[in-house]
Amino acid sequence: MSGTIASQLVAVLHTVFSVTHHNTVYMYLLFAAAAASAIISAVAWRRRSIGPVATTIAFFMAASSWWGLAYALHLSGFFQSAGYFWLDASYLGVVAVPTAYFVFTLFYTDNSRHLTRRVKYLLAVEPVATLVILFTDRYHGLFFAGKRVEEGRAILDGGEWFWINITYSYLMILVAFVLLIRFAVKTGGIYRKQVVLIVLGSLIPWVSSGVGILNLSPLPDLDLTPFAFTITGAAFAWALFRFNLLNIVPVARDALVEVMTDGVFVVDLNNRVVDINLAAQEFLGLSKSSIGKNAEYLFRNTPDLVELYRSVKQGQFELYTEYYGNRYLDMRVVPLFDKGKQDSGKLFIFRDITQRKAVETQIKQANTRLQEQLFEIGKLQSELRRQAILDPLTGLYNRRYLEETLRRELLRARRDETSVVILMLDIDHFKDFNDIHGHRAGDAVLRELGKLLRRETRNGGDIACRYGGEEFVVVLTNTSPDTAENRAEEIRKSVLEMKVSVGETELSATVSIGVASYPGDGSTGDTVLHAADNAMYRAKKAGRNCVVVHNELPDKRTGNRDTD
Ligand code: GH3
Ligand code: MG
Ligand code: MG
Repeated sequence: MSGTIASQLVAVLHTVFSVTHHNTVYMYLLFAAAAASAIISAVAWRRRSIGPVATTIAFFMAASSWWGLAYALHLSGFFQSAGYFWLDASYLGVVAVPTAYFVFTLFYTDNSRHLTRRVKYLLAVEPVATLVILFTDRYHGLFFAGKRVEEGRAILDGGEWFWINITYSYLMILVAFVLLIRFAVKTGGIYRKQVVLIVLGSLIPWVSSGVGILNLSPLPDLDLTPFAFTITGAAFAWALFRFNLLNIVPVARDALVEVMTDGVFVVDLNNRVVDINLAAQEFLGLSKSSIGKNAEYLFRNTPDLVELYRSVKQGQFELYTEYYGNRYLDMRVVPLFDKGKQDSGKLFIFRDITQRKAVETQIKQANTRLQEQLFEIGKLQSELRRQAILDPLTGLYNRRYLEETLRRELLRARRDETSVVILMLDIDHFKDFNDIHGHRAGDAVLRELGKLLRRETRNGGDIACRYGGEEFVVVLTNTSPDTAENRAEEIRKSVLEMKVSVGETELSATVSIGVASYPGDGSTGDTVLHAADNAMYRAKKAGRNCVVVHNELPDKRTGNRDTD
């Protein structure tokens, strides 16, 4: 009865192996598997900087390697005198393999938090118990039940503990398998391939035992499990070390990318979203299911983002989106290259900077307000300073300013050996004027006189001040004492011609002027002022509306006289 091609193949293999001494073939295959496991273990150990996933693979494969090696040595009969030494020794690997495999799964599926000290001790209980029972088997036969034989056939059944150990081991592998499947379901993106390969690798031990149970093995009575685990380990290592974009396992990627508050998404050359982290999903209102979809379609609500996405290869940008609630984004675009230095996509990292922007705007506004206030304060200050030195009624400098300035001018005159002339002016009969025309009219005259004196002193460094009520001082810095009298006379005449309109009437006033000069009439401001005052007093005496120069004879006075 001819069966399928597979069953024919099995039949052929059966024949081949029974012709040759099939134990010998099996032994060489075991050596090969042990060597392969050792190599994988070494590779994983060299990559141990990746984390416990690599280290656990290294242990898993080291145990598998030992298993194969010790069993092969046992079969070789090379150490005949040692009896069952190598068979027993192989069990060091046999018990370690499911445990290491299980621990690897815990790390790979992000369940390592369950690996507490207590769990570690619990995981050690069964392997240690098995080893103890195994090594004391000759006293109780719990493990081999007296079934082990010299020529080294596989012990495929045994005593009670033999079955307990088998059950325990497959239970571990089953739990690990379930964890892997669960993990594979929720893992997507660039890690999809990796997880799928790991799951495929973890199927191998099941396939192998299936083959054994269905008696399809080309090597009947011989244990295929060591080969199965070697293939599993190879698949794991390949998945982890070969397929990895960032050379990290999903767990590490999760820790890095998912926990980030920055939004991250990766797009490949076909505009497909390859990966998108939680922050980006939340902000963009997407889910993991967006992976594999067209990026431009996903971002269609944000024309600016699509524009940026199309045009920009790399760089950092600020982006404003209305669609996502009037937000400002700080977006970085990084080109991705694969090992061949070929463009393989783009990485987008963004951060919501709306709040920072708002604070910035507030600070800017506060700054502008402060600037305005500073400007205002500056203006007020100069106004204050102006008010401090000016007389409000006449707009002339006040007495305080005069005293300050006079001191300075006299010092300068002393240094330059020049002179300073002081005119002291007093309005004539101003009390009467006030009495006749009223105080308001008096004020109008004072104001007009202020204007006149400012006009007269507009050029050069001359200074006009209101010295007291209706008394004024004019400091002439560019006038010699000889020409001072002429300047005073000009002023007197101007005042005489001055007309002040008060209501319907036009009023006028006259002044008496005393002239004194530094250093001729005094060496300090006070003494020169005093001298000018004296001269002015003499001008009053002389009939008012005239100019008197200090230290000059009364007949040299000028101007009109009135009776007094
Ligand atoms: P004389 O010719 O001798 O100087 O006579 P006079 O009336 O001017 O005498 P005196 O200088 O003593 O009088 C000063 C007067 O000036 C007194 C006051 O009524 C008037 N006066 C002083 N300050 C002001 C002011 O701010 N406004 C007005 N309207 N009058 C003032
Ligand atoms: Mg007076
Ligand atoms: Mg007067």
